[in-house]
Amino acid sequence: MANMYDIVIVGGGPGGYSAALYAARAGLHAVVLEKQRIGGQAVQSENIENYPGFDAGIDGLSLSEKMQRGAERFGAEMVTDEVCRVRLMQPVKIIEGAKQTYRAPAVILATGAPPKKLGVQGEEEMLGRGVHYYAACRSMMYKRKTVAVIGDGEQAAEAAMLLSRIAKRVCLVHRGIRMQINPAYMNKLKMMGNIERYAGSRILAFLHTNWVSSIRIREERDGEIWNLPCDGAFICLGGVPETGLFRGQVALDEQGYILANETTITNLTGVFAAGDVRTKLLRGILTAAADGAVAAQQAERYIVESI
Ligand SMILES: Cc1cc2nc3c(=O)[nH]c(=O)nc-3n(C[C@H](O)[C@H](O)[C@H](O)COP(=O)(O)OP(=O)(O)OC[C@H]3O[C@@H](n4cnc5c(N)ncnc54)[C@H](O)[C@@H]3O)c2cc1C
Repeated sequence: MANMYDIVIVGGGPGGYSAALYAARAGLHAVVLEKQRIGGQAVQSENIENYPGFDAGIDGLSLSEKMQRGAERFGAEMVTDEVCRVRLMQPVKIIEGAKQTYRAPAVILATGAPPKKLGVQGEEEMLGRGVHYYAACRSMMYKRKTVAVIGDGEQAAEAAMLLSRIAKRVCLVHRGIRMQINPAYMNKLKMMGNIERYAGSRILAFLHTNWVSSIRIREERDGEIWNLPCDGAFICLGGVPETGLFRGQVALDEQGYILANETTITNLTGVFAAGDVRTKLLRGILTAAADGAVAAQQAERYIVESI
């Protein structure tokens, strides 16, 4: 049958590429379907410092290309195609792309969860030049500097705590009056002498020449507009899991992440979830790649047991 594989992997980020590497090395016929030429959110990053093995860091595009070639080397196929529809509840899963249809007994979903954007002036242009989404990846750039953290949830609280140990001053800016975090966490934030909270503050723009120099804020209470000087800002509004296509088939949590633990097993037999798209504690390149390996191994086990 045309386009019949052992494993179809949806999404070509670190999760998908590492699943393809492990599947191909296990002698399985695997394909990665990726809508972009080179996949993965990390292609937008000019320097990745927290992926082991690169002592001077590596740019995201090079890392993605290396991951892709590493899987191709063992026979995994890479196809540029956008998946538009999936039928995952039957023994042979059907994955419909914009270009072709693919079939396999096992599917690995690795479509990621890109960060929520603020959608304000300067955000896109200054990405990597004072605008960041992941404190764990860029915190060391702000040693003894002033940095803003934008958001009112746990991700923002964790980023502020992390940065408070590195930066001189952390400005935690959020739109509502209260943060949506548990009281114990709130007390810890208050105990940190270098975290200042700016509640009821709406971000209007990132001001910059070559690098962000301040953020423009409007007070929700009286409409006053002012600029908060800072050396950089972290937007911590959570992720947007790319799971719309799977809704109604694969079980999701209330935020839309695929419900799966470290085994990557989902509610559907033969369907596995790897990387940022699944419920997990720590999202990033390393943990996505680790998931890909586990998912491929679980898929292999499923194929062997079901024939
Ligand atoms: C600017 C930036 C910098 C970052 N820097 C770091 C860093 O330094 N260190 C770090 O650990 N993490 C960093 N991250 C986060 C990191 O990139 C992600 O955690 C990681 O890429 C998650 O891998 P993944 O494989 O789960 O998903 P992703 O990398 O998001 O890959 C998912 C892929 O699926 C594809 N896809 C989605 N839907 C479809 C569809 N319907 N059909 C076909 N393809 C589809 C997407 O195009 C995407 O390429 C950064 C993220 C950004 C945005």
